[in-house]
Amino acid sequence: MSNTPAKVINLADRRAKKEDEARNAPISGWITWLYCPKCKSLEYSELEMPNGRVHKKCGTLVEEEEVQIDVRAEYTISLRNSKRLDELFKETKIPGFLKPFAKKGMGMLENLQAAEVQYRKRLENIVNGPVNSYPEEWDEKSLEMELKTLDPLGLILTEARQPNLHFPEVDS
Ligand SMILES: [Zn+2]
Repeated sequence: MSNTPAKVINLADRRAKKEDEARNAPISGWITWLYCPKCKSLEYSELEMPNGRVHKKCGTLVEEEEVQIDVRAEYTISLRNSKRLDELFKETKIPGFLKPFAKKGMGMLENLQAAEVQYRKRLENIVNGPVNSYPEEWDEKSLEMELKTLDPLGLILTEARQPNLHFPEVDS
């Protein structure tokens, strides 16, 4: 039988609880939306450039709009989107399902999946390493923000991924 004093167990418990909290704490970060007034193009970047930047394609100084994010929330939602896309892939592969559109549909799903993978890569860049997602029971509705659901696919876009919220004058 172990005769570890209760106090030690207590400390270990508390440490475990603290570690658990740290794993589930929000991680603050920034995504910057870049708008080129010449090309009318929008893209996002995870890199902060305090002295401004020019659009590589045309050399014009871009307008920037920074959006504060919870890296962990963005990552978790992106993972869920990817899971949803995987399910849709499987459905699309069922013979007969969406047959005339299957090819086009697959291409679209592939592009969406690539965008999710790319987004998560950028989020990892922000923290310089892997990001732990929130647990299964975490509800994205607990975020106080305007989530946009892409119907009929059911993908969720956070505010950081809705450029029209940051550049309302731009059609995207
Ligand atoms: Zn440009």
